[in-house]
Amino acid sequence: MATASKRSPETAALIVGAGSGERFGRAKAFVSWRGEPLIYWAARPFARSDAVDRLVLVVREADFAAAEAVVQRLGKPGSVVLGGATRSASVRAGLAALPAGVRRVLVHDAARPNVSARLLERVLAADGPCVLPAVQVHDALHRAQAAGSAVVDREGVVRVQTPQMLERELLSSLHDRDPEAADDGALAIAAGIAVQYVAGEEENLKVTTPQDLAWLDRVAGGVRVGQGFDVHRLEAGRRLVVCGVEISSDRGAVGHSDADAACHALMDAILGAAGLPDIGYYFPPGDPRFAGADSIGLLEKVVRYAREAGWAVSHADLTVLLEAPKIGPHRSAMRARISGALGLAPEDVSVKATTAEGLGPIGAGDGIAAWAVATLRTEVAR
Ligand code: MG
Repeated sequence: MATASKRSPETAALIVGAGSGERFGRAKAFVSWRGEPLIYWAARPFARSDAVDRLVLVVREADFAAAEAVVQRLGKPGSVVLGGATRSASVRAGLAALPAGVRRVLVHDAARPNVSARLLERVLAADGPCVLPAVQVHDALHRAQAAGSAVVDREGVVRVQTPQMLERELLSSLHDRDPEAADDGALAIAAGIAVQYVAGEEENLKVTTPQDLAWLDRVAGGVRVGQGFDVHRLEAGRRLVVCGVEISSDRGAVGHSDADAACHALMDAILGAAGLPDIGYYFPPGDPRFAGADSIGLLEKVVRYAREAGWAVSHADLTVLLEAPKIGPHRSAMRARISGALGLAPEDVSVKATTAEGLGPIGAGDGIAAWAVATLRTEVAR
């Protein structure tokens, strides 16, 4: 943590996302991944870092309003700037928008949504006019040519990523010198600047094709499993709502909300996996705001709370214990309701049912119970 006396120079992050994204058919920066555009994830570690004072998102005109909304959601002082036809033009546009006090600039690709806080810290901790994250090359390198291929010596060869940190004045003068340049680090080297490399990360992938997003889904972050349980009494004259579907029944569930035990069990499973308090904390029984509440709406809120904690639901498995009526005829409607609330496909949700074989109070038709298991994945590197 920087103290007042050792405060780092004022630092801005330029998130550059004005490219055309030819292989996506649209600007990559605004391709959606885990519920947010790539540029949101790319900018988030900078927004969360105390060492970064402001954000500038450089985007295409068509994405301007969406980028302003991203800056709002990130909750850091920031602005949105129109990019140019080339990467250099975009960087220069971003530089022009910086307040005079900014001394250091982190330039980051909007198409690298999985940059970790640790990588950002390594870059920020390094000294020097130009700091570049880089990873080793382990594969053999060939220059493939029809006229005779050649082996490239990989000794000392690294792959350079972003964020690249440069002194502001240096970055400005480099781009003024070569307005066609594609890469900030390459400009520094061409100008004879001694650049400093810090360890990059393989996971800090530059998304180039739709397949890259599938790869990121596999590598980005961890998996957690949560479980939940709920039970409600059944009485005549009440509605019976299970997994958001009302079932015709001579008895319904007693509760403050719509008493959807399956939804309640699932909410607790999600909250548990996200390391959050239980549903009684968020929706206290007796709170008039939740009288007769639609539990599917509450489930959608829980999904948002988990997401704000950095976790996305990727699967749910429910078991309902009910003597009568039968759940089977409603199963597909239930899967549709639950998966809709979770933002998943029906195939990612399972609804199973069993009876108590006449045993105990649930077997006598006096109650309904439900168990749920939810699988959550981290939304980005944590
Ligand atoms: Mg309940």
